[in-house]
Amino acid sequence: MNDRALLTVISGFAGSGKGSAMKGLLEKYPDTYALSVSATTRAPRPGEVDGREYFFLSDEAFEEKIRAGELLEHAGYVGHYYGTPRAYVEENLAKGKDVLLEIEIQGALQIKKKFPSACLLFLTPPNADELKRRLIGRGTEDEETVKKRLSRAAEEADGMEQYDYLVVNDNLEDCVETIHRIIQSEKNKVSRCLDEIQSIREGVHAFS
Ligand code: 5GP
Repeated sequence: MNDRALLTVISGFAGSGKGSAMKGLLEKYPDTYALSVSATTRAPRPGEVDGREYFFLSDEAFEEKIRAGELLEHAGYVGHYYGTPRAYVEENLAKGKDVLLEIEIQGALQIKKKFPSACLLFLTPPNADELKRRLIGRGTEDEETVKKRLSRAAEEADGMEQYDYLVVNDNLEDCVETIHRIIQSEKNKVSRCLDEIQSIREGVHAFS
């Protein structure tokens, strides 16, 4: 029906499985979605590649991008900057791709202000204990960082009502399908299809 591209923000606690859900979505629907690669000043984790997981930048280079207006949004998270490069998002929306931003809550709210029609999804593990287990089990952060990320999760939990949809990630495959269905249904909302409605209406009225 409505083939206009949708900008979707996906947030969730560290350890909610956002990364795996995004990967699953891109693997299953490669022609539909484009995932924005963020810029960050945090160090790469083992296996992360510059330009694939993130653009890894120095503080100076990141601040220069802010000054140059090259970021759609940016935020501080556990001692580092994170931000969304503007050009990729604008180019892919123009191509008709549904663009995904996997970002934290401060950035999500900036996007909602700039793009009121953006759809905001919050991803959560089934319960808090599972969140802690996943975060520790991941083994990619030291104890201090895990603590900071858990306390940041508490802050994020207070903002969950500001999102449009809540998705519980109990099973990865179901979670990917749920996100896909939400995004595609969102595009059929009457409020997003006013041009199509007008055109069909004119056609139908022409009969009488
Ligand atoms: P991580 O260091 O675990 O990759 O990401 C930490 C947090 O930063 C996650 O909640 C992730 O969603 C968020 N994040 C990643 N990229 C961006 C971005 O471009 N902007 C904002 N605001 N948050 C981001």
